[in-house]
Amino acid sequence: MRCPYCSHDDTQVVETRESDEGDVIRRRRRCLKCDKRFTTYERAEIALPAVVKKDGTRADFDAGKLRASMLLALRKRPVSMEQVDSALDRIQERLLASAAREVPSSRLGELVMRELKRIDKVAYVRFASVYRSFEDVDEFRRLIRDI
Ligand SMILES: [Zn+2]
Repeated sequence: MRCPYCSHDDTQVVETRESDEGDVIRRRRRCLKCDKRFTTYERAEIALPAVVKKDGTRADFDAGKLRASMLLALRKRPVSMEQVDSALDRIQERLLASAAREVPSSRLGELVMRELKRIDKVAYVRFASVYRSFEDVDEFRRLIRDI
């Protein structure tokens, strides 16, 4: 941690205290060069899990990208932006609740499909057909039958 007064990058923690609620750690630091003191606060970042793609690479969770792919499936469908955003919220809440640090992209796809199935069947089939790329014709039939 760099000293905010002289920019020296060697500081020492002289005191660590947790807030009453336990959600913030307050650290009192001392600069080893100019001896001034300052405080830093540490809190947990609400982090969505990283997305693990089929090829094993990881990417940051990207709500914008997810939204774009949903909107693509919902093109010209009678669905409001509000519905899309609350579907996105539900997906993110589910991911946060799982507290997983990583989520396979396939799981993310399933979550999107579940939401689309609820809000618009046509979008659901569109998304699913792109997403699953229907290697299996029977699978597609089953999907159509389910609707
Ligand atoms: Zn300093």
